[in-house]
Formats: sequence, structure tokens, C-alpha cells
Amino acid sequence: MAWAHFDSQCGYCGERLERSSRKGHLDHLIPSSQGGTNHISNRMPSCPACNGDEKKDLPWEPFLQSKCATDEILKERRTRIRSWQSKFSSVSIQLPPDVHVQLEAAISLAVAAYDNAAMEVTALKRKMKQDKMQPPSA
Ligand SMILES: [Zn+2]
Repeated sequence: MAWAHFDSQCGYCGERLERSSRKGHLDHLIPSSQGGTNHISNRMPSCPACNGDEKKDLPWEPFLQSKCATDEILKERRTRIRSWQSKFSSVSIQLPPDVHVQLEAAISLAVAAYDNAAMEVTALKRKMKQDKMQPPSA
């Protein structure tokens, strides 16, 4: 997915990357040393030069700036990276309010059903124990 979004190019310098060869890496946009995750939204195809030798622990924006000859290229690549990141961040967090209410209701129903079932099991167990302790009279 990341490869398609970035058109199999290094997200920083635009070098064409062969996914199958060992040339392409998925770079951390936010370095893990700065709290970046391994989630795909934080990963971007990049060439070995950008990924390994040059970027290191730099934040991606200033590094990208240093790789782009013109403002147009910078803008285009920055937009591509931003749209990649935002593809994921909105999925789980921004539920429409009515959906959120329904979801909460469904969860509390499920919890209540579980509680009921657990109580029933406990009651049954207790009953079985009592039955065992009182052998049927001959
Ligand atoms: Zn590169």
C-alpha cells in the first residue's frame, strides 16, 4: 500500500525504487527515538541514501526540504506524505457522534450479557456443589 501511494519512489528525493530488490526501505517518518511508531502510517518508502546515511534522527520535514530543489517539488512531496499519514489517523478516532453512541450502547449490552452469563454459571456451580454434598437419601 505504501509503495502504491508513493508510486515506488523515495518519498524524500524521488528516486525510483525496486520493491523486490533490497534498495527500498520503509523509513520511519518520525524516528523511533522520538516516539515514532512502527505503524504503516509512520513508514514511507525511501532509498538507502536517504534512509540510512542522511536522514538519521532528523524530523522528516526539514530533511525533505533539504532534498527538494524547488518549492513546487517540496510542496508536492510534503502533500503526499501528509495525505499518507492522514489516511490512517482518522479511521478509529473520528467516529460520527451517533455511531459512537450506538457503539457505546452495544458495548454495555455485551458487558451486561457477559455479567449475567457469569452469574448464571456461578449459580449453577454452587447448585452442583450443594447437590454433591447432599447425596440422595436411600
Ligand atoms: Zn532518497
